[in-house]
Amino acid sequence: MFFKQIQQHSDNFSYIFADENTKEAAVVDSSFNASQLIKTIKAKCFTLKYIINTHGHSDHTAGNIELKSVFGAKVVAHILSKSNFDMAVKDGDLLTIGKVSINILYTPGHTFDSICLLIDNKKLLTGDTLFVGECGRTDLPGGNPKSMFDSLLHKLYKLDDAVEVYPGHDYGSKPSSTIGEEKKTNYTLKPRSLEAFIEFMSQP
Ligand SMILES: [Zn+2]
Repeated sequence: MFFKQIQQHSDNFSYIFADENTKEAAVVDSSFNASQLIKTIKAKCFTLKYIINTHGHSDHTAGNIELKSVFGAKVVAHILSKSNFDMAVKDGDLLTIGKVSINILYTPGHTFDSICLLIDNKKLLTGDTLFVGECGRTDLPGGNPKSMFDSLLHKLYKLDDAVEVYPGHDYGSKPSSTIGEEKKTNYTLKPRSLEAFIEFMSQP
């Protein structure tokens, strides 16, 4: 599998991954610099099948229209998303890029339309749900600390320790991590009660 993390401005990460045999590819979070993504996809002779949004915030979706106009790919978002999309997904859905599998995990909390993508059961693209050493804000419109608690402690926490974590922003000490490492070092994943988590998230 081809897999590339691309640093955009304002610390956003975009991702391109592809089945190198069939050349089918997907972009996750087009963000601001679509031309950089377009260059990579063309250089590799990939066919862009999906443009997937981890959630509807504009710093993640800004390049969708440009990418779609060049490649005609389908914009994919959670069914509750208010952004423009062509294909709705929900928890448990499975997409494929050639032989590469993409499992959809619904992880609300930062927004009500947040999803994480588990690629080939090995790499987790976490959007603004989980960062290296942090989690996403829950105080923006559509945010909900109780949902974030469930998404982090009842969903992502249960994934295999070896699963690699690729966040939507470069906010941590390094650009990627693993579930096992985050369970040990990320203070937002510390087991605590729902009440304690809500109190913790409300602190400035
Ligand atoms: Zn966001």
